[in-house]
Amino acid sequence: MSSPPPLHDRRDTVPDEQAGAAVSTGRLPSPEIVMAALERGFERYRTDDSGVIANYIPALAGVDPDLFGIAVVAAGGAVHTVGDAAALFSIQSISKAFVFALVDEALGHETVRQRVGVNNTGLPFNSMLAIELNAGSPSNPMVNAGALVATSLVPGQSVDARWQFIRDGLSRFAGRPLEIDDGVYSSESANNQRNQAMAWMLDSYGRLNGDPAETTDVYTRQCSLLVSATDLAVMGATLADGGVNPLTGEQVVSPRACRDTLAVLAASGLYERSGDWLYEIGMPGKSGVSGGIVTVSPGKGGLGTFSPRLDAAGNSVRGQRVAHYLSGALGLNLFGSAPTTDA
Ligand code: GLN
Repeated sequence: MSSPPPLHDRRDTVPDEQAGAAVSTGRLPSPEIVMAALERGFERYRTDDSGVIANYIPALAGVDPDLFGIAVVAAGGAVHTVGDAAALFSIQSISKAFVFALVDEALGHETVRQRVGVNNTGLPFNSMLAIELNAGSPSNPMVNAGALVATSLVPGQSVDARWQFIRDGLSRFAGRPLEIDDGVYSSESANNQRNQAMAWMLDSYGRLNGDPAETTDVYTRQCSLLVSATDLAVMGATLADGGVNPLTGEQVVSPRACRDTLAVLAASGLYERSGDWLYEIGMPGKSGVSGGIVTVSPGKGGLGTFSPRLDAAGNSVRGQRVAHYLSGALGLNLFGSAPTTDA
């Protein structure tokens, strides 16, 4: 198999002297430095028109491809935005990260590992083959198979109760009530035969905790919730802040559920390109097919980006590039360390 093109070009590389100290502890740089880096990142990539918009869900095809928003929310609550950071789009696969966090919180570390899994498939997000190759295991909650299982495990006696649990939970992460995009929901519902088939296949392996049609419907609803890049940054900052939403002060999930979720994002958040992402950006992230990406810098904050043009794996091109730029400029790579000065 040939290697995919790199996530970035030479321009992305931030010279060491301009980069923040890339250490995995501490806080974000000062608000002035964060804002200046956001503006530089925005200017660098605002004219980059590589990639294509997703059109397998018809309602997504009509979006303005040039929209571009970036937001950083610090674990301490400071909000920084540039461009179309308030533009609303359906959250799509990024919902998987937060539904997983809620299910992990409800069911516990070991149960979700066994029922959903935490290993990368190396295959596209909607792969049926991955299920068959793994004897019915959905592999991880960031591909559709694992997300369907996670959604089926949500507590609640009825579809409506499970849906309320998800909508309320994701709204608590965002710090505001999230609404469904009815056009996206009905468009995807009319075109999600593959996800329906996947739910039935998982059911045939005894993996689904509920009715396949109902589970697919709740999953489609969760993907249709409208968010902005700023919402994503707040949601990411909540995962970066031990589960406490830095704007509302609410404890949404426990620190352990955050750790579990971030581990899964690091392994699988960008599908079959998760290794490239971790190698270049060095932080957990999650992308969605409408063009959003959330990136989490534990203890420091969340980055939300929105730009609809995607690479072949379904990840926003500008979003990946600007995340790479900001990881360097703000010193966010989790694997960075400074040589010890101890004797
Ligand atoms: N709702 C979409 C689907 O299930 C989400 C996919 C994505 O964002 N990658 O196909």
